[in-house]
Amino acid sequence: MTPGPIARMYVCGITPYDATHMGHAATYVTFDLLGRALRDAGHEVIYVQNVTDVDDPLLERAQRDGVTWQALAEMEIALFREDMTALGVIAPDHYIGAVEGVPSVVKAVTDLLSAGAAYRVDLPEGEGAAGASDIYFELSSAHDFGAVSSWDRDQMMAVFAERGGDPERAGKHDQLDPLLWRAAREGEPSWPGGELGEGRPGWHIECTTIALDYLGMTFDVQGGGTDLIFPHHEMSAIQACAITGGSPFARAYVHQAMVGLDGAKMSKSQGNLVLISKLRESGVDPMAIRLALLAHHYRTPWDWTDQSLADAQRRLSMWRAGLSGNGGPSADATIARIRECLANDLDAPGALAAVDAWAEESMERAAGDPGGLEIGAPGLVGRALDALLGVRL
Ligand code: ZN
Repeated sequence: MTPGPIARMYVCGITPYDATHMGHAATYVTFDLLGRALRDAGHEVIYVQNVTDVDDPLLERAQRDGVTWQALAEMEIALFREDMTALGVIAPDHYIGAVEGVPSVVKAVTDLLSAGAAYRVDLPEGEGAAGASDIYFELSSAHDFGAVSSWDRDQMMAVFAERGGDPERAGKHDQLDPLLWRAAREGEPSWPGGELGEGRPGWHIECTTIALDYLGMTFDVQGGGTDLIFPHHEMSAIQACAITGGSPFARAYVHQAMVGLDGAKMSKSQGNLVLISKLRESGVDPMAIRLALLAHHYRTPWDWTDQSLADAQRRLSMWRAGLSGNGGPSADATIARIRECLANDLDAPGALAAVDAWAEESMERAAGDPGGLEIGAPGLVGRALDALLGVRL
Protein backbone atom coordinates (compact mmCIF):
# COMPACT_ATOMS: atom_id res chain seq x y z
CA MET A 1 0.00 0.00 0.00
CA THR A 2 1.34 3.42 -0.92
CA PRO A 3 -1.05 6.19 0.13
CA GLY A 4 -0.92 9.61 -1.46
CA PRO A 5 -0.02 12.79 0.47
CA ILE A 6 -3.12 12.23 2.60
CA ALA A 7 -3.50 8.78 4.17
CA ARG A 8 -7.10 8.03 5.11
CA MET A 9 -7.66 5.45 7.84
CA TYR A 10 -10.85 4.04 9.33
CA VAL A 11 -10.66 1.83 12.40
CA CYS A 12 -13.74 0.22 13.90
CA GLY A 13 -14.39 1.41 17.41
CA ILE A 14 -15.86 -0.12 20.52
CA THR A 15 -19.41 -0.86 21.57
CA PRO A 16 -19.28 0.97 24.91
CA TYR A 17 -20.86 -1.53 27.29
CA ASP A 18 -17.79 -2.77 29.11
CA ALA A 19 -14.31 -1.54 29.91
CA THR A 20 -11.37 -1.68 27.48
CA HIS A 21 -9.56 -5.00 27.58
CA MET A 22 -6.13 -6.01 26.31
CA GLY A 23 -7.49 -7.09 22.91
CA HIS A 24 -8.98 -3.64 22.26
CA ALA A 25 -5.83 -1.97 23.47
CA ALA A 26 -3.73 -4.09 21.08
CA THR A 27 -5.90 -2.94 18.16
CA TYR A 28 -5.80 0.77 18.97
CA VAL A 29 -2.09 0.76 19.77
CA THR A 30 -1.40 -0.98 16.44
CA PHE A 31 -3.29 1.67 14.48
CA ASP A 32 -1.71 4.40 16.56
CA LEU A 33 1.66 2.98 15.52
CA LEU A 34 0.55 2.93 11.88
CA GLY A 35 -0.65 6.54 12.09
CA ARG A 36 2.69 7.59 13.60
CA ALA A 37 4.66 5.73 10.90
CA LEU A 38 2.59 7.33 8.13
CA ARG A 39 3.04 10.82 9.61
CA ASP A 40 6.76 10.23 10.01
CA ALA A 41 6.89 9.20 6.34
CA GLY A 42 5.45 12.59 5.39
CA HIS A 43 1.76 11.82 4.99
CA GLU A 44 -1.04 13.81 6.46
CA VAL A 45 -3.25 11.27 8.24
CA ILE A 46 -7.02 11.51 8.52
CA TYR A 47 -8.10 8.98 11.10
CA VAL A 48 -11.78 8.16 11.64
CA GLN A 49 -13.15 5.86 14.31
CA ASN A 50 -16.75 5.06 15.15
CA VAL A 51 -18.29 4.20 18.46
CA THR A 52 -21.31 1.90 18.35
CA ASP A 53 -23.24 3.87 20.93
CA VAL A 54 -26.50 2.07 20.28
CA ASP A 55 -26.64 -1.68 19.64
CA ASP A 56 -28.07 -4.85 21.17
CA PRO A 57 -25.21 -5.67 23.60
CA LEU A 58 -25.28 -2.13 24.99
CA LEU A 59 -29.06 -2.19 25.47
CA GLU A 60 -28.94 -5.64 27.11
CA ARG A 61 -26.17 -4.65 29.52
CA ALA A 62 -27.91 -1.40 30.46
CA GLN A 63 -31.09 -3.30 31.23
CA ARG A 64 -29.21 -5.89 33.28
CA ASP A 65 -27.48 -3.17 35.29
CA GLY A 66 -30.57 -0.99 35.73
CA VAL A 67 -29.06 2.08 34.04
CA THR A 68 -30.04 3.92 30.88
CA TRP A 69 -28.16 2.91 27.75
CA GLN A 70 -27.10 6.55 27.29
CA ALA A 71 -25.56 6.70 30.77
CA LEU A 72 -23.77 3.39 30.28
CA ALA A 73 -22.41 4.46 26.88
CA GLU A 74 -21.27 7.83 28.20
CA MET A 75 -19.48 6.24 31.15
CA GLU A 76 -17.73 3.57 29.08
CA ILE A 77 -16.72 6.01 26.34
CA ALA A 78 -15.15 8.28 28.95
CA LEU A 79 -13.26 5.35 30.46
CA PHE A 80 -12.12 4.18 27.01
CA ARG A 81 -10.75 7.63 26.19
CA GLU A 82 -8.92 7.77 29.52
CA ASP A 83 -7.40 4.36 28.85
CA MET A 84 -6.31 5.40 25.36
CA THR A 85 -4.77 8.65 26.58
CA ALA A 86 -2.88 6.77 29.27
CA LEU A 87 -1.55 4.35 26.64
CA GLY A 88 -0.30 7.25 24.52
CA VAL A 89 -2.79 6.64 21.71
CA ILE A 90 -3.36 9.78 19.64
CA ALA A 91 -7.10 10.46 19.36
CA PRO A 92 -8.75 10.02 15.94
CA ASP A 93 -9.51 13.19 13.97
CA HIS A 94 -13.17 12.20 13.83
CA TYR A 95 -14.74 10.07 16.55
CA ILE A 96 -18.31 9.46 15.43
CA GLY A 97 -21.19 7.82 17.25
CA ALA A 98 -23.74 5.56 15.58
CA VAL A 99 -26.48 7.83 16.92
CA GLU A 100 -24.88 10.85 15.27
CA GLY A 101 -24.72 8.90 12.01
CA VAL A 102 -28.41 7.93 11.88
CA PRO A 103 -29.45 10.51 9.22
CA SER A 104 -26.76 9.21 6.83
CA VAL A 105 -27.87 5.64 7.41
CA VAL A 106 -31.49 6.58 6.71
CA LYS A 107 -30.50 8.17 3.41
CA ALA A 108 -28.27 5.25 2.39
CA VAL A 109 -30.83 2.58 3.23
CA THR A 110 -33.61 4.50 1.48
CA ASP A 111 -31.43 4.68 -1.65
CA LEU A 112 -30.56 0.97 -1.45
CA LEU A 113 -34.24 0.10 -1.15
CA SER A 114 -35.21 2.12 -4.19
CA ALA A 115 -32.29 0.64 -6.14
CA GLY A 116 -33.51 -2.88 -5.39
CA ALA A 117 -30.42 -3.70 -3.33
CA ALA A 118 -32.39 -3.97 -0.09
CA TYR A 119 -35.73 -5.44 0.95
CA ARG A 120 -38.25 -5.39 3.75
CA VAL A 121 -38.91 -8.29 6.10
CA ASP A 122 -42.08 -8.42 8.20
CA LEU A 123 -41.57 -8.32 11.93
CA PRO A 124 -42.17 -11.43 13.99
CA GLU A 125 -45.69 -11.71 15.40
CA GLY A 126 -46.29 -9.30 18.23
CA GLU A 127 -43.18 -7.16 17.68
CA GLY A 128 -43.16 -3.52 16.63
CA ALA A 129 -45.86 -1.32 15.13
CA ALA A 130 -48.40 -2.62 12.62
CA GLY A 131 -46.99 -2.51 9.10
CA ALA A 132 -43.40 -1.92 10.27
CA SER A 133 -40.59 -3.94 8.75
CA ASP A 134 -36.88 -4.56 9.19
CA ILE A 135 -34.71 -3.91 6.16
CA TYR A 136 -31.97 -6.21 4.89
CA PHE A 137 -29.28 -5.87 2.29
CA GLU A 138 -29.73 -8.14 -0.73
CA LEU A 139 -26.40 -9.89 -1.12
CA SER A 140 -27.45 -11.50 -4.39
CA SER A 141 -27.60 -7.99 -5.90
CA ALA A 142 -23.93 -7.38 -5.14
CA HIS A 143 -20.75 -8.23 -6.99
CA ASP A 144 -17.57 -9.25 -5.24
CA PHE A 145 -19.16 -10.59 -2.08
CA GLY A 146 -16.32 -12.38 -0.28
CA ALA A 147 -13.60 -10.16 -1.73
CA VAL A 148 -12.58 -8.75 1.65
CA SER A 149 -12.36 -11.99 3.62
CA SER A 150 -11.72 -14.45 0.75
CA TRP A 151 -13.78 -16.89 2.82
CA ASP A 152 -16.04 -19.58 1.41
CA ARG A 153 -19.67 -19.85 2.40
CA ASP A 154 -19.07 -22.57 5.00
CA GLN A 155 -16.55 -20.40 6.80
CA MET A 156 -18.96 -17.49 6.72
CA MET A 157 -21.87 -19.53 8.04
CA ALA A 158 -19.72 -20.93 10.85
CA VAL A 159 -19.29 -17.52 12.53
CA PHE A 160 -22.17 -15.41 11.25
CA ALA A 161 -24.57 -16.07 14.14
CA GLU A 162 -22.02 -15.64 16.91
CA ARG A 163 -20.85 -12.34 15.41
CA GLY A 164 -24.18 -10.56 15.47
CA GLY A 165 -25.84 -12.17 12.42
CA ASP A 166 -29.32 -13.68 12.34
CA PRO A 167 -29.20 -16.57 9.81
CA GLU A 168 -32.44 -18.08 11.10
CA ARG A 169 -34.58 -14.96 10.69
CA ALA A 170 -37.68 -15.93 8.70
CA GLY A 171 -38.28 -14.01 5.49
CA LYS A 172 -34.64 -13.30 4.61
CA HIS A 173 -33.69 -14.02 0.99
CA ASP A 174 -30.26 -15.30 1.95
CA GLN A 175 -29.31 -16.39 5.45
CA LEU A 176 -26.25 -14.15 5.29
CA ASP A 177 -28.09 -10.97 4.24
CA PRO A 178 -27.11 -8.32 6.81
CA LEU A 179 -29.57 -6.12 8.71
CA LEU A 180 -29.58 -2.51 7.54
CA TRP A 181 -32.39 -1.02 9.59
CA ARG A 182 -34.17 -2.46 12.60
CA ALA A 183 -37.73 -1.24 13.04
CA ALA A 184 -38.62 0.20 16.44
CA ARG A 185 -39.55 -2.33 19.15
CA GLU A 186 -41.19 -1.76 22.49
CA GLY A 187 -38.64 -0.49 25.00
CA GLU A 188 -35.86 0.04 22.43
CA PRO A 189 -34.55 3.43 21.33
CA SER A 190 -35.44 4.49 17.81
CA TRP A 191 -35.10 7.41 15.43
CA PRO A 192 -37.25 8.75 12.59
CA GLY A 193 -36.44 6.91 9.38
CA GLY A 194 -38.70 8.67 6.89
CA GLU A 195 -40.14 6.03 4.58
CA LEU A 196 -38.12 3.36 6.41
CA GLY A 197 -40.22 3.97 9.50
CA GLU A 198 -38.95 4.50 13.06
CA GLY A 199 -35.96 2.37 13.87
CA ARG A 200 -32.20 2.17 14.33
CA PRO A 201 -29.21 1.22 12.17
CA GLY A 202 -27.72 -2.23 11.79
CA TRP A 203 -24.10 -2.52 12.84
CA HIS A 204 -22.32 -2.77 9.47
CA ILE A 205 -24.17 0.09 7.74
CA GLU A 206 -23.11 2.36 10.59
CA CYS A 207 -19.46 1.93 9.61
CA THR A 208 -20.22 2.04 5.89
CA THR A 209 -21.82 5.45 6.07
CA ILE A 210 -19.47 7.00 8.64
CA ALA A 211 -16.47 5.97 6.51
CA LEU A 212 -18.09 7.29 3.33
CA ASP A 213 -19.07 10.57 5.01
CA TYR A 214 -15.69 11.31 6.54
CA LEU A 215 -13.22 9.61 4.17
CA GLY A 216 -15.08 8.86 0.93
CA MET A 217 -14.94 5.72 -1.16
CA THR A 218 -11.63 3.92 -1.67
CA PHE A 219 -9.83 5.19 1.39
CA ASP A 220 -6.44 3.78 2.34
CA VAL A 221 -6.76 1.55 5.39
CA GLN A 222 -9.69 -0.23 7.02
CA GLY A 223 -8.63 -1.61 10.37
CA GLY A 224 -9.88 -3.64 13.29
CA GLY A 225 -9.40 -6.97 14.99
CA THR A 226 -9.33 -10.24 13.03
CA ASP A 227 -12.80 -10.99 14.46
CA LEU A 228 -14.11 -8.16 12.26
CA ILE A 229 -12.94 -9.64 8.94
CA PHE A 230 -16.28 -11.40 8.56
CA PRO A 231 -19.03 -10.40 8.62
CA HIS A 232 -18.32 -6.82 9.66
CA HIS A 233 -15.70 -5.67 7.17
CA GLU A 234 -17.07 -7.82 4.37
CA MET A 235 -20.58 -6.39 4.80
CA SER A 236 -19.44 -2.79 5.37
CA ALA A 237 -17.52 -2.95 2.09
CA ILE A 238 -20.17 -4.64 -0.06
CA GLN A 239 -22.77 -2.13 1.13
CA ALA A 240 -20.48 0.78 0.29
CA CYS A 241 -19.93 -0.59 -3.21
CA ALA A 242 -23.71 -0.83 -3.68
CA ILE A 243 -24.28 2.70 -2.37
CA THR A 244 -21.59 4.40 -4.45
CA GLY A 245 -21.28 2.12 -7.46
CA GLY A 246 -17.52 2.23 -6.87
CA SER A 247 -14.95 -0.29 -5.66
CA PRO A 248 -13.03 -1.05 -3.52
CA PHE A 249 -14.23 0.36 -0.20
CA ALA A 250 -10.70 0.38 1.21
CA ARG A 251 -7.36 -0.20 -0.53
CA ALA A 252 -5.85 -2.17 2.32
CA TYR A 253 -7.19 -4.15 5.26
CA VAL A 254 -5.12 -4.43 8.39
CA HIS A 255 -6.26 -6.77 11.14
CA GLN A 256 -4.90 -7.09 14.65
CA ALA A 257 -4.56 -10.70 15.80
CA MET A 258 -6.45 -11.78 18.91
CA VAL A 259 -4.93 -11.56 22.38
CA GLY A 260 -5.77 -14.48 24.67
CA LEU A 261 -5.28 -15.00 28.36
CA ASP A 262 -3.18 -17.92 29.65
CA GLY A 263 -4.19 -20.10 26.71
CA ALA A 264 -7.88 -19.14 26.45
CA LYS A 265 -9.60 -16.66 24.15
CA MET A 266 -10.13 -13.41 26.04
CA SER A 267 -13.83 -12.65 25.82
CA LYS A 268 -16.60 -11.05 27.76
CA SER A 269 -18.64 -14.24 27.77
CA GLN A 270 -15.76 -16.16 29.35
CA GLY A 271 -15.27 -13.44 31.93
CA ASN A 272 -11.50 -13.58 31.54
CA LEU A 273 -10.78 -10.03 30.46
CA VAL A 274 -7.64 -8.17 31.41
CA LEU A 275 -8.88 -4.60 31.73
CA ILE A 276 -6.61 -1.64 31.12
CA SER A 277 -8.39 0.47 33.73
CA LYS A 278 -7.93 -2.24 36.40
CA LEU A 279 -4.21 -2.50 35.66
CA ARG A 280 -3.89 1.28 35.84
CA GLU A 281 -5.79 1.37 39.13
CA SER A 282 -3.41 -1.20 40.56
CA GLY A 283 -0.53 1.16 39.80
CA VAL A 284 0.86 -0.41 36.62
CA ASP A 285 2.70 2.14 34.47
CA PRO A 286 0.62 2.50 31.24
CA MET A 287 3.88 2.70 29.28
CA ALA A 288 4.69 -0.81 30.48
CA ILE A 289 1.33 -1.95 29.11
CA ARG A 290 2.12 -0.26 25.81
CA LEU A 291 5.52 -1.95 25.67
CA ALA A 292 3.94 -5.32 26.45
CA LEU A 293 1.63 -4.81 23.46
CA LEU A 294 4.39 -3.60 21.15
CA ALA A 295 6.47 -6.68 21.98
CA HIS A 296 4.15 -8.70 19.71
CA HIS A 297 3.74 -8.29 15.98
CA TYR A 298 0.17 -7.32 15.12
CA ARG A 299 -0.35 -10.35 12.88
CA THR A 300 0.66 -12.88 15.53
CA PRO A 301 -1.92 -14.09 18.07
CA TRP A 302 -0.53 -14.18 21.59
CA ASP A 303 -1.52 -14.71 25.19
CA TRP A 304 -1.33 -12.15 27.94
CA THR A 305 0.42 -13.60 31.00
CA ASP A 306 1.92 -12.08 34.13
CA GLN A 307 5.26 -12.59 32.43
CA SER A 308 4.23 -10.24 29.57
CA LEU A 309 3.92 -7.39 32.04
CA ALA A 310 7.04 -8.34 34.02
CA ASP A 311 9.11 -8.38 30.81
CA ALA A 312 7.73 -5.01 29.75
CA GLN A 313 8.44 -3.47 33.15
CA ARG A 314 12.02 -4.71 33.01
CA ARG A 315 12.40 -3.27 29.51
CA LEU A 316 10.95 0.08 30.60
CA SER A 317 13.44 0.29 33.49
CA MET A 318 16.31 -0.58 31.20
CA TRP A 319 15.32 2.08 28.66
CA ARG A 320 14.93 4.67 31.39
CA ALA A 321 18.39 3.84 32.70
CA GLY A 322 19.83 4.05 29.20
CA LEU A 323 18.24 7.42 28.62
CA SER A 324 19.21 8.91 31.95
CA GLY A 325 22.78 9.90 31.07
CA ASN A 326 23.96 13.00 29.24
CA GLY A 327 25.60 10.96 26.56
CA GLY A 328 25.01 7.71 24.78
CA PRO A 329 25.90 5.73 21.68
CA SER A 330 25.05 7.55 18.46
CA ALA A 331 21.31 8.00 18.07
CA ASP A 332 21.13 8.14 14.26
CA ALA A 333 21.59 4.46 13.50
CA THR A 334 19.07 3.45 16.17
CA ILE A 335 16.42 5.88 14.97
CA ALA A 336 17.00 4.75 11.38
CA ARG A 337 16.59 1.15 12.49
CA ILE A 338 13.29 1.93 14.26
CA ARG A 339 11.97 3.57 11.09
CA GLU A 340 13.13 0.66 8.98
CA CYS A 341 11.32 -1.83 11.25
CA LEU A 342 8.08 0.15 11.25
CA ALA A 343 8.19 0.43 7.46
CA ASN A 344 8.50 -3.36 7.33
CA ASP A 345 4.85 -4.22 8.03
CA LEU A 346 4.92 -2.49 11.43
CA ASP A 347 7.61 -4.69 12.93
CA ALA A 348 7.24 -3.31 16.46
CA PRO A 349 9.22 -6.16 18.10
CA GLY A 350 12.14 -5.37 15.78
CA ALA A 351 11.95 -1.70 16.74
CA LEU A 352 11.98 -2.59 20.45
CA ALA A 353 15.04 -4.79 19.91
CA ALA A 354 16.87 -1.86 18.31
CA VAL A 355 16.14 0.32 21.34
CA ASP A 356 17.18 -2.52 23.69
CA ALA A 357 20.54 -2.72 21.95
CA TRP A 358 21.06 1.03 22.22
CA ALA A 359 20.06 1.13 25.91
CA GLU A 360 22.28 -1.84 26.79
CA GLU A 361 25.28 -0.32 25.06
CA SER A 362 24.56 3.01 26.67
CA MET A 363 24.62 1.50 30.17
CA GLU A 364 27.68 -0.66 29.52
CA ARG A 365 29.72 2.21 28.20
CA ALA A 366 28.57 4.60 30.90
CA ALA A 367 29.72 2.05 33.50
CA GLY A 368 33.08 1.56 31.80
CA ASP A 369 34.87 4.12 29.69
CA PRO A 370 32.37 6.81 28.67
CA GLY A 371 34.78 8.23 26.10
CA GLY A 372 33.33 8.67 22.63
CA LEU A 373 29.73 8.86 23.77
CA GLU A 374 27.60 11.32 21.85
CA ILE A 375 26.36 14.17 24.01
CA GLY A 376 22.61 14.64 23.59
CA ALA A 377 22.02 11.18 22.10
CA PRO A 378 19.65 10.11 24.92
CA GLY A 379 17.48 13.15 24.24
CA LEU A 380 17.30 12.34 20.54
CA VAL A 381 16.45 8.69 21.17
CA GLY A 382 13.87 9.67 23.80
CA ARG A 383 12.12 12.04 21.41
CA ALA A 384 12.13 9.40 18.67
CA LEU A 385 10.59 6.85 21.04
CA ASP A 386 7.86 9.32 21.86
CA ALA A 387 7.16 10.27 18.23
CA LEU A 388 7.56 6.89 16.53
CA LEU A 389 6.57 4.34 19.16
CA GLY A 390 4.36 6.49 21.40
CA VAL A 391 6.49 5.51 24.39
CA ARG A 392 7.06 8.40 26.79
CA LEU A 393 9.80 7.81 29.30
ZN1 ZN B 1 -16.84 -1.03 11.85
